[in-house]
Amino acid sequence: MKMMFIGAAHEVTGSCHYLNACGKHILIDYGMEQGVNIYENAPLPVEAPLIDYVFLTHAHVDHSGLLPLLYAKGFRGQIFMTEPSANLCSIMLRDCAHIQMQEAEWKSRKAKRSSDIQYQEPIYTMEDADGTIRRIVPCSYDQIIDICDGIKIRFTDVGHLLGSASIEVWLTEENESRKIVFSGDIGNFDQPLLKNPGFTKEADYVVMETT
Ligand SMILES: [Zn+2]
Repeated sequence: MKMMFIGAAHEVTGSCHYLNACGKHILIDYGMEQGVNIYENAPLPVEAPLIDYVFLTHAHVDHSGLLPLLYAKGFRGQIFMTEPSANLCSIMLRDCAHIQMQEAEWKSRKAKRSSDIQYQEPIYTMEDADGTIRRIVPCSYDQIIDICDGIKIRFTDVGHLLGSASIEVWLTEENESRKIVFSGDIGNFDQPLLKNPGFTKEADYVVMETT
């Protein structure tokens, strides 16, 4: 098993972790960096078409916003998330694509005016967002999901956003099992509309969001 911290490792947006286990390449979240880019993230250690699965903690753009870019680069695996996250992502990823396309058009027009006729490509398009949405596998909270031989996951409610979850990941390689928990963003108690965050009772490793 190998793990690599791609995003939100030296700054607070653009969450992304890479996991290599049971012969599979997995991303946990693939968020867009927002605001000032303080630190240049490490590139993904494998090309997008080789990624088998994405496990998404929640729909906020700093956790999900680069999924259409992954699709644009050739990812055709499955994206597991809770059902409310799937509903939110269907709206938010399309909205993100719309913003990317508008921004590229605006930059192109500006470049043209300053006689620098460089056309600016959007980082991804509506087609990429729609393709991404078709890769989503909506999941229930609290149910153990068999991903493939040796990998199981479970989403638990952490009360940060509708659909937000910690993801418990059980990995079994050569008769040895380990449990890793990716906390996702954790919410507060007594919030309207949201449940209180639940507790994860055991883990071998915890990858914790600290914001
Ligand atoms: Zn969040």
